Amino acid sequence: MSGDKGDGDGSGEGKGVTMRVEVDVPKCVASGQCVMIAPDVFDQREEDGIVVLLDERPPSELHADVRESAVVCPAAAIRVVEK
Ligand code: SF4
Repeated sequence: MSGDKGDGDGSGEGKGVTMRVEVDVPKCVASGQCVMIAPDVFDQREEDGIVVLLDERPPSELHADVRESAVVCPAAAIRVVEK
């Protein structure tokens, strides 16, 4: 855990915030909430509806949707790391 490619100003606000998304696939109950909220970041497997992470580092305009997905996920399978 080290600050790779840091911009150096350390403010951490607004632009420049990096988001990393992790999904705990075994926890997923295939409810599809995340896919409805953030279809550019999450998809579901055709055979069983289990989540597929499409974009581990989504652009800033999708951050709010990803955060909401993590909140509404009934299995708490989505983890968002921001820095
Ligand atoms: S919202 Fe959670 S449980 Fe539902 S498909 Fe997405 S990761 Fe799986």
